[in-house]
Amino acid sequence: MTHRCDSKTQHLLPIEQANAKIRNQLQAVTGNEKLSLNTALGRTLQKPVFARYHYPFNNVSSMDGYALNTQGINPIQPFQLMCCGTSWAGKPYQKALTPGQCIRIFTGAVLPQGADSIIIQELVSVQNDTINFPANSTLHDNIRCSGEDYKKGDLLLPAHKKLTAVDLGFLASAGIYEVTVYRQVNIAFFSTGDELTTVGQPLANGNVFDSNRHALNGLLNDPCYNCTDLGRYADHYELLKKTLQDAANQYDVLITTGGASVGDADFIKDIMDEIGQINFWKIAMKPGKPLAFGHISSTVFFGLPGNPVSVIATFQQIVEPALKQLAGLSATKRLRLKAQCLTDLKKTPGRKDFQRGILKQKNNGDFTVISAGQQGSHILSSISAANCYIILDAQSQSLPAGQWVTVEPFTCFIAE
Ligand code: AMP
Ligand code: MG
Repeated sequence: MTHRCDSKTQHLLPIEQANAKIRNQLQAVTGNEKLSLNTALGRTLQKPVFARYHYPFNNVSSMDGYALNTQGINPIQPFQLMCCGTSWAGKPYQKALTPGQCIRIFTGAVLPQGADSIIIQELVSVQNDTINFPANSTLHDNIRCSGEDYKKGDLLLPAHKKLTAVDLGFLASAGIYEVTVYRQVNIAFFSTGDELTTVGQPLANGNVFDSNRHALNGLLNDPCYNCTDLGRYADHYELLKKTLQDAANQYDVLITTGGASVGDADFIKDIMDEIGQINFWKIAMKPGKPLAFGHISSTVFFGLPGNPVSVIATFQQIVEPALKQLAGLSATKRLRLKAQCLTDLKKTPGRKDFQRGILKQKNNGDFTVISAGQQGSHILSSISAANCYIILDAQSQSLPAGQWVTVEPFTCFIAE
């Protein structure tokens, strides 16, 4: 077998270009489903949602107090009114208020016709049915006006939005009980490697436990995805080829780990060249150089590296934005901040580094970060301890402690 040329001299695609290439190739899945609110959390709206009613539905009181018709009243002077009824939340006062009349009213209760002001109960004194209002009463206050939040026909939520718990409450408050969402993206993944033992089984001599499938299973935990773990496969060209071909007929996306590099047991690239197309292979990212992106027919393919930290980092940086796009979500990006790094960082120029760090915030609001420990792409303990990546540009060299660096918290996304 001939060895491919030294990978270090091959062209490595900058990560931004890799993401742009993927973005240009993909579009959201076609197909939608109607879901009731109680099954829609985390799904992507395919259609915008418009208001069916004004909100608030009626003019209502925002306080407990008295609703009055202030026509002819001089609020500079104290004044007295007869209380002629009550408006309860859910049980409105049915008549109109004529000038000089007032009623007892509670928070959320509908204002009767003719009422134009609410005076809170703490400001008045009550003698039987007579209510004494103080001098300098503020009129026209404490009323939530119908339609002040939104009007019938207004846009409530745009298409491509991921439905949050807040959105579900918002839609329910507007009387919307059903939404149209993108169908789930069907994703299958498997790991490759002769040396893999499934966790829970005795570790065979020279083997490692297959951790990648468990990390992927967690990383793919999103209501927009329907995921299938296809298991672990040996480094066997024909077996892997058949597995990929069969899976391509059933899923929107296939993700493999391992076997994507240039070793003699790394078959993924050659198989893809035979049964599909590779759009790019190898990116200028550390961890994570060998990453293949391509297609088998219309199925999107990601061949991730084998090293566990590389799997996680390439998933987060490359695969996840693509899956979000397929799921119909509007583009988001990960929040990046500047933090002062309190430890030395080792770096050789060449690839963009995603070192694992621990980010903290000082009392004055400034951020500090330290290295989370050993940075090998097989070291899961430090990425487990970390809460952010420290991102170092490709050309950057080692940095002494004290420098300000770019960090990316693991879990914060912002609108793009
Ligand atoms: P490869 O990309 O197949 O050359 O694998 C690179 C390194 O990652 C090797 O040390 C593998 O043993 C390790 N590796 C590959 N797949 C897995 C996996 N599923 N779980 C844990 N380690 C793996
Ligand atoms: Mg391997």
